[in-house]
Amino acid sequence: MADNTTLTTEADSFASVTGWGRTAPTTALVERPRTYEEAAAAVRGCGARGSIARGLGRAYGDAAQNAGGSVLDMTGLDRIRSVDADAGIVVCDAGVSLHRLMEVLLPLGWFVPVTPGTRYVTVGGAIGADIHGKNHHVSGGFSRHVRSLRLLLADGEVREVLPGTELFDATAGGMGLTGVILSATVQLLPVETSLMSVDTERATDLDDLMTRLTETDHLYRYSVAWIDLLAKGASMGRSVLTRGDHAPLDELPARARRHPLTFRPGQFPGAPSFVPEGLLGRKSVGLFNELWYRRAPRSRVGELQKISTFFHPLDGVPHWNRIYGRSGFVQYQFVVPYGQEEALRRIVGRISRRGCPSFLAVLKRFGDGDPGWLSFPVPGWTLALDIPANMPRLGTFLDELDEEVCAAEGRLYLAKDSRVRPETLAAMYPKLDAFRALRAELDPHGVFTSDLSRRLAL
Ligand SMILES: Cc1cc2nc3c(=O)[nH]c(=O)nc-3n(C[C@H](O)[C@H](O)[C@H](O)COP(=O)(O)OP(=O)(O)OC[C@H]3O[C@@H](n4cnc5c(N)ncnc54)[C@H](O)[C@@H]3O)c2cc1C
Repeated sequence: MADNTTLTTEADSFASVTGWGRTAPTTALVERPRTYEEAAAAVRGCGARGSIARGLGRAYGDAAQNAGGSVLDMTGLDRIRSVDADAGIVVCDAGVSLHRLMEVLLPLGWFVPVTPGTRYVTVGGAIGADIHGKNHHVSGGFSRHVRSLRLLLADGEVREVLPGTELFDATAGGMGLTGVILSATVQLLPVETSLMSVDTERATDLDDLMTRLTETDHLYRYSVAWIDLLAKGASMGRSVLTRGDHAPLDELPARARRHPLTFRPGQFPGAPSFVPEGLLGRKSVGLFNELWYRRAPRSRVGELQKISTFFHPLDGVPHWNRIYGRSGFVQYQFVVPYGQEEALRRIVGRISRRGCPSFLAVLKRFGDGDPGWLSFPVPGWTLALDIPANMPRLGTFLDELDEEVCAAEGRLYLAKDSRVRPETLAAMYPKLDAFRALRAELDPHGVFTSDLSRRLAL
């Protein structure tokens, strides 16, 4: 299912393109280069509306679409060029998915350094958004593990780009706007097994959750909390924490030790293609949240889980994004710095009082920020939630939350965004002017353009 499920027709033709939230489809000429030369030719011939690279379309908003212009579907560039199984270094095309990397690398005892909540993202998309995972507090963002990348520039030149350079920092998290990443060299993480050793515990409210995360997150490589945003009063912010690490070989039962590096993620039937509007209302989501919270153990230690269960539970249900119906959904993710816990409490309180029917809400702590100029993480608390796009007065409500985030010197995540105002976004990213200046110098005719870049004047 590693297909580009948010493209509606075959590549190399005009097609309707959306993000994972399915909120703002636009039409573009979708081209699917199979070689670096074809990618360069597509960029050179892209026309006045420009071009943007696209991976597997898992960004929620309009980052990988380009109304009236060209979209380069990079999934045709999907070769793993080399693996150094001693040093744990992979060189691959940008269109290779993290799913594919896991299939190939896990049996060799290596894991991707950072994985988001889905493994159906490409290496290009992982660098373009400088994605973070449950290990950000330990390992930083994806780009921190990239040793070099090859970038196709607006004039058709291909440049080797190294960490520590301005071009690298503008590209890591630069949402495809500095050029097309053709390939990358990535440092991997050694693992003894393909299982996770997981501790689960419940937190009774937001303060309890923040205390637990603050006091013990450093003990875990991976950490995240599912949070019930519909719970009110004394239960506001009640949560289920799941934290863990890759299980060492000696923690596996004898039978599992025979094939410790097997990677076999399961899959359920997909969501139906038609789902009635309003299925995910306050009542149904409230019930789901209640059950989810109650069925979680109060405290459980050292449970062995598959990688897919721990990191990517939603990947087991193909096209799950359809359950929000035709209007789609908005994903709202922000971070506020440490010291701004009061702002976090206020925002969670507002969401809870408003009754946003969100069953996919997670809270986690970020570690040090990453060098990418538009990279999202800063040290602090990050909350991500899904909201049906047809919720009444959603725009005004989210604008108000943006104000709170901004006042707390926090920011929103571009890979999730579909609606922030340009002036608000600019106030959140102090290096945006440097990013614009570099782009103006490298790409004076604005070849690399997306709906996102037009909407936010990036
Ligand atoms: C269920 C789910 C869970 C998620 N969880 C997380 C999470 O935990 N952490 C997190 O950080 N993100 C998360 N995301 C968001 C996702 O990781 C990012 O949006 C990622 O960028 C998607 O990669 P993609 O290959 O689908 O890229 P696309 O969505 O197609 O594109 C994303 C951006 O990358 C650029 N891009 C893609 N390929 C290239 C290339 N070859 N060269 C230059 N630019 C390129 C595009 O132009 C675009 O701006 C999640 C998304 C989903 C659907």
